[in-house]
Amino acid sequence: MISALNCPFCHIDDQQIIFQDELVMSFRDGFPISRGHSLIIPKRHIPSFFELTEQEHKSLLYALRIIKNDLDKELTPNGYNIGINDGLAAGQTVMHLHIHMIPRYTGDCTDPRGGVRWIFPEKAAYWLDNST
Ligand code: 5GP
Ligand code: ZN
Repeated sequence: MISALNCPFCHIDDQQIIFQDELVMSFRDGFPISRGHSLIIPKRHIPSFFELTEQEHKSLLYALRIIKNDLDKELTPNGYNIGINDGLAAGQTVMHLHIHMIPRYTGDCTDPRGGVRWIFPEKAAYWLDNST
């Protein structure tokens, strides 16, 4: 597992921080998949959402709201994908818990239906499935 020593999220420049409190902070994703793609993390280097303390949990969700309001004002997106890749099997590449806050814009892809279901493209479009 990546330790705090070589974890990119444990070494975010102060200028990159868009929100923080004692326990959590937020900054833009370094390789954004949409305009405004932001990450919200606990300051403590833990890999999983399920290791949060109750107070970290509260702060993280509060920060999510703050970031949402800021993004609404700054970029007026039309929707959001909010997600956590929790564990290697789920695709996590930076083993410091982070919530992806991904603003979505009408027309930013051909058909946005299904959202996070597209981790398995062959199963995503359930509305086309006549087998059940
Ligand atoms: P994961 O695959 O673990 O869910 O997501 C890791 C995210 O961290 C990716 O979206 C990637 O673009 C972002 N990322 C990786 N390294 C850095 C970095 O050094 N700085 C920032 N701001 N984002 C990073
Ligand atoms: Zn870390």
